[in-house]
Parts: sequence; structure tokens; C-alpha cells
Amino acid sequence: MRKLDTKTIVVASHNAGKIREIQDLIGPFGFTAKSAAELNFIEPDETGTTFEENAAIKALASAQASGLPALSDDSGLVIDALGGDPGVYTANWAETADGTRDFAMAMQKVETALEKAGATSADSRTARFVSVLCLAWPDGHTELFRGEVEGTVVWPPRGTQGFGYDPVFQPEGYQTTFGEMSAEQKHGWKPGDPQALSHRARAFKLFVETCLEA
Ligand code: IMP
Repeated sequence: MRKLDTKTIVVASHNAGKIREIQDLIGPFGFTAKSAAELNFIEPDETGTTFEENAAIKALASAQASGLPALSDDSGLVIDALGGDPGVYTANWAETADGTRDFAMAMQKVETALEKAGATSADSRTARFVSVLCLAWPDGHTELFRGEVEGTVVWPPRGTQGFGYDPVFQPEGYQTTFGEMSAEQKHGWKPGDPQALSHRARAFKLFVETCLEA
């Protein structure tokens, strides 16, 4: 296990929602971090079949392009009634013919698939958000951290906060979707807090415990 001994890193992402959440999480640790999008790095093809593989592809690409340690996130929504779909292909389900992403359409696709599978009751619509964070160094070393949060897919979508599929995901034990939560409620976490809510914040907590704390 390798410690991180610099405060200058790259956030290996081109996804504005993820970059915002990762910047919120690393903020209290005094990092200076530019994103791969700001640095105009090419987005590598996500050719892996697991969150871990794709997270490593993204972090290694940014670490090698920058000469700095790079922190990536590969994430997705895993729905039981759909056999784990969309899973690692969560972003692909939002892709449109002109190459842009449309999450209203993606959420509708999920709903159509759930209805087709006969998953209309809350207890048949269980799902989890998964986030794998990868910290990669320019020499090729990687550390991986997985966070998961259980919940239910709801319909219709509720809330306008967050990004992606947040309006249809209601975490277990809550009456609100991620789309109805503030940034602080969804992914707020700082050292000393016993628990984090979102998949990304849970993975980040492991990253802090492994790579930052003595
Ligand atoms: P990828 O990790 O770039 O393959 O993309 C993962 C996709 O999963 C994103 O484009 C989002 O649509 C979705 N996703 C991941 N994390 C979240 C989240 O916290 N809220 C909502 N959607 C998410």
C-alpha cells in the first residue's frame, strides 16, 4: 500500500458532476487539483469489463500524461432486476446518436426495462450505486477503493440536484432521492465522520484511510 506524498494531483475525469464531487471531497485536504478536462487530456477508451479496470485505465492515462498522481472514478448503477445492468455501461445508456449524453432518456430507458421485467413494486427495484476510485502514479502503481450504496430505483424522477441518474435513486433508509439532496447530504464527508452516504464518498473515505492517514 503506497501513501500519497504530494498535494498536487490530477482529477482524472471529463465528467463535470464527478469532478465537482471529487473537488468537494478533496477540498478539506488542501490539494491543488486540475481535472483531465481542464488539462485537455484525451479521454481514454473504457475497454474494461469491471469498474476496477476502467478506473485504472483513466487514472493511469492522466498520471502518464501529467507526470503527477491522478485520481479517477469509475461508477455506475447496478440494478438487480436487470441482471446488474446498466453497471459498467451506465454512461453508455445515456449516449445519443450525435455523441452527447441525455440522462432523462437514460432514466426512461431504465424504467422501460424495469417495466418489461415486471419490476413495478419497490421491493423488486433494488439497486446499488458503485464507485471505484483509482489513484495511479506515473510509474504505473495503482491503489483501488470501492464504495457502494444500496437503494431503490423510483419513478418518476425526483429532484434537480446532483447529476446523472440521481433523480431516480433513493438510498436505503431515506425518503428522498439523491436528486433531492444537497451536495452535503449526498457526498459530504470529512475525517472523523463515522459514515459517508454516497458510493463515491464511501470510496473516498477508504482512499483517505489508506493513502493519506499515517
Ligand atoms: P463512467 O464512470 O464514466 O463510466 O460513468 C458512470 C456513469 O454513472 C455516469 O455518467 C453517471 O451517469 C452515472 N453515475 C455515477 N455516479 C453517479 C452519481 O453519483 N449520481 C448519478 N449518476 C451517477
